Amino acid sequence: MKTRKANALILKHLPCTWARGQLRRFLLASSALILALAGLAPQAIAQNTTPTAIRPAPQSAVQAKHPSNAQLADPRIEARVDRLLRQMTLDDKIGQLVQYNDTGDAPGAPATGNAAELAKKAELAAVNPETTTQVNAKELAATGRLGSMLNTVGADRTNLYQHLAVDKSRLHIPLLFGADIIHGFRTIYPVPLGLAASWDPDLVADVSRISAEEASTAGVRWFYSPMVDISRDPRWGRTTEGAGEDPYLGAAIARAYIRGYQGDDLSKPGRVAASVKHFAAYGAAEAGREYNTTDMSEITLRQIYLPPYKAAVEAGSATIMSAFNSLNGVPASANPFLLGKVLRSEWGFNGFVVSDYTAVMELTNHGIALDAATATRKALTAGVDVDMMSHFYDAELPALIKSGAVPMRVVDEAVRRVLRVKFATGLFEHPYAEGTEVTAAVAAHRPLVRRAAEESFVLLKNDKIADGAPLLPLASARNRIALIGPLADDTAEMVGAWGGAGRDPDTITLRQTLEERAKQAGGTVLYAKGTGIEDTSDAGFAAAVQAAQAADAVVLALGESGAMSGEGGSRSHLDLPGNQQQLLQAVVATGKPVVLLVFSGRPLVLNWAAQHVPAILEAWFPGTEAGNALADVLYGDVAPSGKLPMSFPRAVGQEPLYYNQFPTGRPATGIDLAKPPSGEDRFVSRYTDIPNDALFPFGYGLTYTSFSYTGVQVSKSTIPLAQAVASRNTPILEATATVTNSGSRTATEVVQCYVRNLGASIEQPVRSLKGFQRVTLAPGESKQVSFPLGFNELSFFNLESKPAIEATHYTVWIGGSSLADQGAQFSVTPASPASRPH
Ligand code: BGC
Repeated sequence: MKTRKANALILKHLPCTWARGQLRRFLLASSALILALAGLAPQAIAQNTTPTAIRPAPQSAVQAKHPSNAQLADPRIEARVDRLLRQMTLDDKIGQLVQYNDTGDAPGAPATGNAAELAKKAELAAVNPETTTQVNAKELAATGRLGSMLNTVGADRTNLYQHLAVDKSRLHIPLLFGADIIHGFRTIYPVPLGLAASWDPDLVADVSRISAEEASTAGVRWFYSPMVDISRDPRWGRTTEGAGEDPYLGAAIARAYIRGYQGDDLSKPGRVAASVKHFAAYGAAEAGREYNTTDMSEITLRQIYLPPYKAAVEAGSATIMSAFNSLNGVPASANPFLLGKVLRSEWGFNGFVVSDYTAVMELTNHGIALDAATATRKALTAGVDVDMMSHFYDAELPALIKSGAVPMRVVDEAVRRVLRVKFATGLFEHPYAEGTEVTAAVAAHRPLVRRAAEESFVLLKNDKIADGAPLLPLASARNRIALIGPLADDTAEMVGAWGGAGRDPDTITLRQTLEERAKQAGGTVLYAKGTGIEDTSDAGFAAAVQAAQAADAVVLALGESGAMSGEGGSRSHLDLPGNQQQLLQAVVATGKPVVLLVFSGRPLVLNWAAQHVPAILEAWFPGTEAGNALADVLYGDVAPSGKLPMSFPRAVGQEPLYYNQFPTGRPATGIDLAKPPSGEDRFVSRYTDIPNDALFPFGYGLTYTSFSYTGVQVSKSTIPLAQAVASRNTPILEATATVTNSGSRTATEVVQCYVRNLGASIEQPVRSLKGFQRVTLAPGESKQVSFPLGFNELSFFNLESKPAIEATHYTVWIGGSSLADQGAQFSVTPASPASRPH
């Protein structure tokens, strides 16, 4: 882990880099085999040095009627694009479509690196000299044959390449530097799943803005973020990078990221272009296994998986990343339905599409292209404008253009899209890193990331203990605290997957904060690690138990390592790893009150803890201010307000488990599912060994007060169908409720509005989130909260894949989780009696 952090500028975890190496090796081997079988020799890059005649703009190059990003549609930018395009040779054009990192060496040049690196390079070269060609990014930049670079970060590093491109290349076109800045650059905030648990889009926009400001001082003007893939299965490790299982919450959060990164003008200092990813449905990987195939109905695709991407596109995302997975048999990175029909035609997307890492090359492994040329043709013509790392576009396009297999206008259009973004970001005017480079966590940003961490925590359980009060917040009388567990004092592990360029010394652990507080308040912290995250030895248990015995209360920091989630982080078991469960049991056996802090990039299975531990707080991976934020909540300076963005299962066998399921013909209504079936109650939709529902459901989270709901109502009980379908942009009715703080301290509630539609031509989920609001109330205070419901909230996708409202019945619930039980009804009434709801 230390090695990973030392290597932070690579912006990849060590395990991930390792995995990437393995994967790449495998991919290269397969591609080589396919190329060999096809009898193809690798193509040399043809010299194409004469400016190519510009074909009249094809229909698709003309900006969409309602372009997704107004700045990219600016005619002044288009004029500049035209002028530049006219001067470009084929090589110049292809260059704009090519992306590399800066780690390649020149072919033929002596390979550099330590013994292990040299051995690896030799191995790769032996596998496939073509695709492992170690490109000389410097030379490519200087000759205009490189358009963008990935994960090349830092003012010196980016400026070096930028000078080559701007000073040396014939047309002086600047490079665009993209990087995986996922939840902070140097000042790190919670992993995206944790951030989503805040249900606070304004907060998401604010933290995104500071990470854009920080990273742009290091030359990065393009983020491979936000990841908005809906994930309904926590086995999938990348669950940690998204906003969870719900399309409505996911869309709200997606918009907020774009607003934070791009602002209203991409060219302003401190703004970066976003790349919403991974288009599309990457999170639906079968069985939660990374990179696995996805298969679903078009209705599910449109209703559940696409809304967050669409929201990000409508919010103006300048770019989008095509995914690794195939969708219904067609890989997303060569998918004309996704990239052409949905993205360009329906949504008017006018940014550019970048492939995921070697995704163009991987088309050969998917089996839809038997050679590199076909993969290139399929990807580009489907709509992948930029090839990230495959080394296919630069190698294959010259011959494909020459033979006419790929029309020049397709290349021209892809280049236009890239250049628009480069002009819009102001790169031509300001190509270099500007301002003072941010090289450490920024003090002025700490309060915001601390608040983000505080808002991300979800209080899952907080029982009253012997003295009659809930265990949390910790009473000041409990001034001897045993702090136990592998995540209590590990700076590197507070960050989670994709830690940007965060530095360990900048991160505050819980041990640091608690000891500091104890010093000020005359308390004591008895620290014992107990075990490692994945250890099997119980050598540390005795000291942990001893610390617990000597304390008034125990804070136990358990969970996953950051590397257990993120890319390549699929798990088949979702329990506490290593022997942490045994440590938990040993500590609980002391009889001392235990607060369990769970650090994880995903929902875990916490059954035993839910039964035996009085207080449980889901902490995700909180980031730079971890210790301070946790202490604020443990001691009650801040009341938790997070709500789960994903259901926590009782068993892995329930996955995929999500609240917005479709109904079944045999619902288990009124049956005690905690008992095994006996007789007829077997023949309902159920398991024989566990209840169907989540241990902790979507939207759930406690705080240090209680909230009650009254007066849930809708402003109309009937709406004529014609009226419901006529107005797409104004609310049709309002749902309201009064929420009251019925406890004894001020706290924030996330008020949630769910809708069910019964009687439609397509069956609809048992409930779907259609609104939420954060409301802060003093004890005894009430507030009326309203949710406007319009076409977007009430429509569904019909069999023609069109959004529709039919004459049906609706139930609306308002409450504090997806279990909200106070509702009101209304109907959309038919135009004629024949189409009355059934
Ligand atoms: C990941 C992307 C990431 C890209 C560039 C890929 O392996 O799937 O999310 O943006 O690498 O690092």
